Amino acid sequence: MGPQTSFDFIVVGAGMAGVSAGYFLSQHGRVLVLEMESHAGYHTSGRSAALFTEAFASPLFCALSTGSKKFLMTPPDRFAQDKIMTPRGAVLVGRADQQASLDELYEKTSQISPTIEFLTLDRVLDLVPVLNSEGLAGGVFDQDAMAINVNELLQGFIRGIRQNGGELRPDEEVLGLSISGNGWTVTTGKQTYQTEIVVNAAGAWSDVLAERAGAAPLGLVPQRRTAILFDAPEEFNVREWPICMDVDEQYYFKPEGGALMGCLMDQTPMSPCDVQPDEMDIAMTVDRIQNATTMNIRRIVKSWAGLRTSVEDQVPVVGFDQTVPGFFWLAGQGGFGIQTAPAMGQVAAALATRSALPAEFEDLGIDALAMSPKRLQNS
Ligand SMILES: Cc1cc2nc3c(=O)[nH]c(=O)nc-3n(C[C@H](O)[C@H](O)[C@H](O)COP(=O)(O)OP(=O)(O)OC[C@H]3O[C@@H](n4cnc5c(N)ncnc54)[C@H](O)[C@@H]3O)c2cc1C
Repeated sequence: MGPQTSFDFIVVGAGMAGVSAGYFLSQHGRVLVLEMESHAGYHTSGRSAALFTEAFASPLFCALSTGSKKFLMTPPDRFAQDKIMTPRGAVLVGRADQQASLDELYEKTSQISPTIEFLTLDRVLDLVPVLNSEGLAGGVFDQDAMAINVNELLQGFIRGIRQNGGELRPDEEVLGLSISGNGWTVTTGKQTYQTEIVVNAAGAWSDVLAERAGAAPLGLVPQRRTAILFDAPEEFNVREWPICMDVDEQYYFKPEGGALMGCLMDQTPMSPCDVQPDEMDIAMTVDRIQNATTMNIRRIVKSWAGLRTSVEDQVPVVGFDQTVPGFFWLAGQGGFGIQTAPAMGQVAAALATRSALPAEFEDLGIDALAMSPKRLQNS
């Protein structure tokens, strides 16, 4: 007997979106996740900063993060082999000429979280002693921000899919999708499959996949973001530092093992691709972090870039396509697709099985209609 070719749900893309949706869908039927690369998380999901913060997210992403927190803190039995969340903290800092940005941020975030603190210059320097004190005004501190073990989360979802009888098949790019009275025929370079429902979790390629299925693209824009890993100054124990970010999103740096990860917070629109960092952007990352601190970055251990993909209103797109039956969108998570994955996966599974959202999600203000592709397809 050959491999099974008929499934209740076929999920395209084994990034965090695809495997989280696959995990919750596998509780309802047979799931196949198809991934064009040799392993899950090869693209954006394997290139993130792995941060969880509710306070520094937009209201809907904040609600989706809060809806994900319980799962991330106390995942189901046998889901993970190690803990997923570790306390980290996040401080957004500003100079005197950025005081208005700091005030505005504090005003906004302290309404979301009672533990948000406005830090004086001295307290900021206690937390991140390498900051250049000259001209620095202070910071807004989210002590509840956490570091996410992204690989543990990704592998937990994949393990769960398998435990529920589902499969992940790497090295299979979905090249063709056609619908008939019998449902979808999904063609890869290796195999032809049948399913009732196709979940489009193709990240930066979601519009490309939609066109292969005969659906109209939604205007998803992948944006490049550049990161470096560099040697930490030897005189400090950087492992205890929070993530430190410029309040006007010019840079951030954070501990990564005994080294530091730095990011330019750039947003350069790109076509979907295996994105690589630009040399100028790497130089600019170094420059901005050196200007903001007393650090002299002597050695870059590695550099990389990832694509954060959004539609114009920066709200994720979750729901059935309005014109092509059985084609389900799960895209546009921008910079929050890791910390919101458990909730997004549950929302996707509820909507794809035409069930109600979990009651606690509605209480949090997670509005399925606000995320529907309908808002982008009716204009
Ligand atoms: C530098 C950086 C820092 C970030 N920091 C954070 C953070 O701290 N916290 C946070 O929550 N988020 C963060 N993000 C955002 C987060 O990484 C993304 O929102 C998330 O990874 C998106 O997941 P995805 O599954 O949609 O995309 P991807 O991980 O890109 O997955 C899509 C998958 O689809 C596959 N695919 C595409 N087309 C096909 C096809 N035709 N057939 C088969 N497979 C296909 C691709 O190969 C890919 O594996 C960051 C992103 C970047 C770049």
